[in-house]
Amino acid sequence: MITYDFIVTGLGCAGMSLMYYLLDSPLKDKKILLIDYSSKSKNDRTWCYWAEKPLPIHPKNSPLVYWENINIVKAEEKIQSKLGDYKYFHIKSSDFYNEVSEKIKKFPNVTFIKDHIASLDQIGNDKVIVKTENNGSFYGSKVFNSIPLDQPTTKKSILNQTFVGWKIKCKGACFEKSSATLMHFPEINRNESEFFYILPYNESEALVEYTLYTKNKVSTELLEKKLEVYLKNNLGIDEFEILFEESGTIPMTTQKFEAKKESNIISIGTLAGCTKPSTGYTFYDIQKHSQQILNQLLEENIQPKYKWIRKKRFSFYDNILLNIAVKWPSELPRIFKEMFEKNQGQQVLRFLNEESSFWEELKLLGSLKYGIFIKSLLHYEKH
Ligand SMILES: Cc1cc2nc3c(=O)[nH]c(=O)nc-3n(C[C@H](O)[C@H](O)[C@H](O)COP(=O)(O)OP(=O)(O)OC[C@H]3O[C@@H](n4cnc5c(N)ncnc54)[C@H](O)[C@@H]3O)c2cc1C
Repeated sequence: MITYDFIVTGLGCAGMSLMYYLLDSPLKDKKILLIDYSSKSKNDRTWCYWAEKPLPIHPKNSPLVYWENINIVKAEEKIQSKLGDYKYFHIKSSDFYNEVSEKIKKFPNVTFIKDHIASLDQIGNDKVIVKTENNGSFYGSKVFNSIPLDQPTTKKSILNQTFVGWKIKCKGACFEKSSATLMHFPEINRNESEFFYILPYNESEALVEYTLYTKNKVSTELLEKKLEVYLKNNLGIDEFEILFEESGTIPMTTQKFEAKKESNIISIGTLAGCTKPSTGYTFYDIQKHSQQILNQLLEENIQPKYKWIRKKRFSFYDNILLNIAVKWPSELPRIFKEMFEKNQGQQVLRFLNEESSFWEELKLLGSLKYGIFIKSLLHYEKH
C-alpha cells in the first residue's frame, strides 16, 4: 500500500485553505489524498471577515461583496460604526469551494475520495492509518484533520453559538444597503445572550440570522420562530421568499479540542481552536493557521508543533467576556454597544482579530464601564 505524504481528512474551510497555500508552495508536488463525505458543491454557509483588502484566498470569479459600516443596535439605540481602512467582506461558501476545487484538479498528484472517515491512528513514529467506511484504509506520513471523531472533545460543558439564518427577498425596499448589522439586541434577555444579524445585499435582499448563546440543545423550529417574529415585528416584513438557509452551532470556549495527541495527526480548523472563543469568528484565523503550518512544513531545522496557539492575554479577555455571557448575559448588549460607541470601529475589529497592541487594548478596555469586568474578574473562570 502506498503511503501518501499528506492526507487531509475533512475538506471544508480549513482543509481547502491548507490546500490552497500548499499548492502554491514548493510542496505542491507531494502525494496528497483528500477525503470528505461531501463533494462540497453546495452553498452551505456564508463567511464574513474584516480586513483592509480581500485575503488572497477570497474567490476572484464572483463579485466582491463588502460593507464599510457596521451597526450595533441595543433596543432603540443604534451605533453606526465606520470601519476606516477595514471592510467587512462576505464569501459565499460555494464560490470558495469551487475555486479551490478547480485549483486542486490541476494537480494529478492530488487525489480526492468521497467517503466517511471511520478512524485515524498513528502507527509507530512516522505513519498514520486512515480508515474509511467504503474505500478501505490509507497510510499517510502526516494527516491534517478537521473532523471531531472522538466525542466529547472538551472536559466541561461549553457555551455554543447556535443560529439559523435566511437569505430572504421581500417586496419593495426593506433594508438599508450601506451597513451590516453585526448585533441587534431588540430586548434584554436575563437568561441567555441572543441577537439578530443582518447582511443586506440590496434594498430587498438580506441574510437575516438569529443567534443564541447557550449550553443547551435548541430545536431549529424554535430558532426559526424567533427569526420569523423578528422579521415581522421588528423589520415589518410579513411576506418574503427564502432564497437560502444556513444554520450552525459554533463552540465558544478557550478549552482545547484535542481529538488526537499523536504528533503526525494535526488538528486544523475549529478542531484546532481557530474559532475566536468570544465571537465565533473562525475564517480569518484558519487562514493564519494554514500559513503557519505551511511555514513549519518548509522549515527543516525545527521541531514543529503545528498547533494554533492564541496569545494568553487574548484567552484571558475571552474568558472575562464568556464569563459575563454565561453569568450576566443581560450586560452583553451594553458592552458591545459601548465598545463601538467609544472607539473607532477599526480599533475594535483589530482587537477582536487579536492584532492590537497591549496599549491599544488598555485604551479600548479603559473606555468601557468597568464594574462588570471587575465582577467577572472576581468570579473568574475558564470557559
Ligand atoms: C453556517 C455557518 C456560518 C459561519 N459563518 C462564519 C463567518 O461569517 N465568519 C467566520 O469567521 N466563521 C464563520 N463560521 C465558523 C467557521 O468559519 C466555519 O464553521 C468553518 O467552516 C470551520 O471550518 P472547518 O474546516 O473547521 O470545518 P468545516 O468547514 O465544517 O469542514 C469539516 C469538513 O469535514 C467533513 N466531515 C465531517 N465529518 C466527516 C467524516 N466523518 N468523514 C468525512 N468527512 C467528514 C465535512 O463534510 C466538512 O467538509 C460559520 C459556521 C457556520 C456553520
